[in-house]
Amino acid sequence: MTTIDDLPIRDDLRGKSPYGAPQLDVAVRLNTNENSYPVPEAVVEAIGKAVQAELRDLNRYPDRDAVALRADLAGYLGHGLAAANVWAANGSNEVQQQLLQAFAGPGRTALGFGPSYSMHPLLAAGTGTRWIGALRDPDFGLTPASAVEQITRHGPDLVFLCSPNNPTGTALDPSVVEAVLASAPGMVIVDEAYAEFARPGMPSALASLPQHPRLVVTRTMSKAFGFAGGRLGYLAADPAVVDAVQLVRLPYHLSTLTQAAARAALAHRAALLVTVDAIKEQRDRIVATLRSRGIRVADSDANFVLFEVGGDQHAAWQRLLDRGVLVRDVGLAGWLRVTAGTESETDAFLGALQ
Ligand SMILES: *Cc1c(COP(=O)(O)O)cnc(C)c1O
Repeated sequence: MTTIDDLPIRDDLRGKSPYGAPQLDVAVRLNTNENSYPVPEAVVEAIGKAVQAELRDLNRYPDRDAVALRADLAGYLGHGLAAANVWAANGSNEVQQQLLQAFAGPGRTALGFGPSYSMHPLLAAGTGTRWIGALRDPDFGLTPASAVEQITRHGPDLVFLCSPNNPTGTALDPSVVEAVLASAPGMVIVDEAYAEFARPGMPSALASLPQHPRLVVTRTMSKAFGFAGGRLGYLAADPAVVDAVQLVRLPYHLSTLTQAAARAALAHRAALLVTVDAIKEQRDRIVATLRSRGIRVADSDANFVLFEVGGDQHAAWQRLLDRGVLVRDVGLAGWLRVTAGTESETDAFLGALQ
C-alpha cells in the first residue's frame, strides 16, 4: 500500500498530521465550539428560497468579488465600515490562509502566542511561512510588556492575536492590541471568531481599524451565527488589505450558493443571534459550577470553557467520553475544553464530570 512517505511530498510536510477533532457519533458533542442550536425553521425557508433563486444561473460563475455579501457583512459590523473594508471566503481559515499568502510565505515569519488556535501554525506551515511560537503567561494571560518583548525579539512579518483566545477563552485587553500594533513591524491579525460571545465591556479591535492600516480583524459565521456548515468567514481592514488578498485568492472562490445562503442568514441575523445570550448563560453556569467545585477555570468571553482536570487530561477526556460526553483535548497538559451548548447539554456535562 502506498503511504504519504512513498510520495515526493514537500519535506516540510513529511510526518505532519492533518488538523481535525474526532467526529464521533456521541449524544453530547461539545468538542468543536459549534453552536448547538439548529437553524430555525423561518431561516431554513429563507435560505432555501435564496439558494433556489440562484439555481438556474449556476451555468455562470459567481460574483468574483462578492460585493453584495461584503456590503451586508460591513453593515452587520458597523464601525463605519463599507464593502471596500471587508473580504469574505470559505471560513475565516481561508481568509487567514490568504493573508499568509499575501503577507508572509517563504522566507518570512509569523508569530503567535500559545496556547492558542492550532490552525494558525498549520496555515503558516501550508504557506511555507516559518512559525515563531511565542508564549502567553502561565495563567494564559498576555501583558503588553510580554507581547512587545517577544515581538521585538523576533521581528515577525505577521502576528496572530486571538481574542477571545481559543482554547483559553479570555479576551485580550485593548492595551495589548495597541502595544502589539505599535511594536510589530508587519501585519497584525486579530482572530475574533468568538467576538459575539464576549462579556460586556470587552471591546473589539474593529474600533482600532481607522488608525492602523496594518491591522486585520477576522470574523466568522461558524460560531455565533450557527452557520459552521455554510462556511463563511470574513475580514475587516483597510481597503488596501482587501486589494492585497485579491492577488492570491482563487478566482470565483466563493460559490454563488454560499453567497446567497450567507446573505439570507445575515438578513435573518436577529433570529440566529438570539442563541448567543442562551449560550453565554450556559457558559457562565459552567464557569460558576466548576469553580464552586474547586476546579480551576479560565475566564471565558467565548462559547467554551477551559477547565483543569489535573494529571492526565487524555484519560479524563476518555472517561467523559465513556459517559457519552465528547469534549476537546487540545493537548494542554492537565486541561480540557468544553463547548457551552444547550441547558441539557450542560446538565449532561456537569453530571458526567462529577
Ligand atoms: C472556530 C474558529 C475559527 C473559525 O473558522 P472557520 O473557518 O470560520 O469555520 C477561526 N478562528 C478560531 C480561533 C476558531 O476557534
